[in-house]
Amino acid sequence: MYLLFLALLALPSGQAASPGHSWGYSGSKGEESWPKNYEFCGGVYQSPVDFHQNILQYDSTLQPIKLSGYNVSSTDSFTLSNNGHTVQMSLVPTMKIEIEPFHYTASQLHLHWGQKSTPKGSEHCIEGKRFAGEVHVVHYNSDKYADLSTAMKESDGLAVLGILIEVGSFNPTFEKIISQIQNIRFKNQKIQIAGFGVRELLPERLDEYYRYEGSLTTPPCYPSVLWTVFRNPVIISEEQLIALETALYCTDSNSSEPVEMTNNYRQLQSHGERLVSVSFREGLVLTIALACLLAVLVIMAFTCLLIRTKRSSRKPSDNRNVAYTVAAGVEENTSKV
Ligand SMILES: [Zn+2]
Repeated sequence: MYLLFLALLALPSGQAASPGHSWGYSGSKGEESWPKNYEFCGGVYQSPVDFHQNILQYDSTLQPIKLSGYNVSSTDSFTLSNNGHTVQMSLVPTMKIEIEPFHYTASQLHLHWGQKSTPKGSEHCIEGKRFAGEVHVVHYNSDKYADLSTAMKESDGLAVLGILIEVGSFNPTFEKIISQIQNIRFKNQKIQIAGFGVRELLPERLDEYYRYEGSLTTPPCYPSVLWTVFRNPVIISEEQLIALETALYCTDSNSSEPVEMTNNYRQLQSHGERLVSVSFREGLVLTIALACLLAVLVIMAFTCLLIRTKRSSRKPSDNRNVAYTVAAGVEENTSKV
C-alpha cells in the first residue's frame, strides 16, 4: 500500500486532465497505446491479473463480504447506459459494502466480455483460464472521500467486486439488464430500468474470494482498487451471452463506421512484487486427491511385494521337484548307456 501511495504521489499534475483522450481495445487506440496518454496504465499495481498457485497465499482473517442495501426496491431505478466501452448500470448510494476498516458506497456496475466466435472475455483469470465474461461492481471509500472521482485517485479509494461469468442455464436476474441492451445499442444512449436485487447478480458464496491491490482496468488505470474477485462464477445462458456480445456498438448512432463492442477486456498484467490473498484453502482438494493417489500406490506396492514374497517362498520346493525330475532323467539315461 505504501508503494501505491508513492506511485500516486508521482502522478503528474496534468495526468488528471487527460480523460478527453479516446481509447479502445484494438487498433491504434488499443491498450498498447494507453500509457501514452495515461501514464499509470504503464505503471505498477495494474489489473487484471491471473490467479495461480505461485502467487496465492491463504489468509484466515479474510471475512465474508458484508453487503447492505443490495436488495434494491423496484420503486427505485437504475440508469443503464452505453458509454462507448461497456454497458454500465448506475447504482444507488444506499448500496454499500464493508471491508474493514472502511465502508464503501456503490457507484456503478459494468461488464466485460469477448465475442461470439471466441466467447472468452473475463479480465481476471484463474490458473490461466479466461471465463466468458466478468461483472465489476465499483464502490468508493465513503468513510474517507466525498465521491467516486475524488476517491479513484487515492490509494485506498476504491473497492471493486469482480464476478466471473460462465455459460450454463438462463439467469433471470441478468436478463433484467440483457433484455434492455437493445435500447442502448449505440454510444451515449441510456435508459431507466426498475430497481432489483443486485445481490442476485453475485455468486451465492461471498466468503470465497481472491483479494489483492490493483488498479482500474481502463484508462486512467489509477492504482487505487482493493480487488475482491469471487472464486465461484455466476451462470448465464449462451443466448444471454450472445446477446451481450452482438448487440452493442462503441460508436454513436450517426457513425458511418460502426465499431462493434466486443473483446472489451484488458490483457493480464504483471504481478510484480504482489501476492494475492485467498480466503479459502485453494490446495485442499488437490491435497486430498494426492493423498488418495499416494494411498493407492502404497497399497499396490504392498500387494506386489506380498505376491513376490509368496512366489519366492514357493520356489525351493519347485526346485526340488525339478532336481528330482532331472536326476531321474539322468538315472534313466545312464541305464541306457
Ligand atoms: Zn471493469
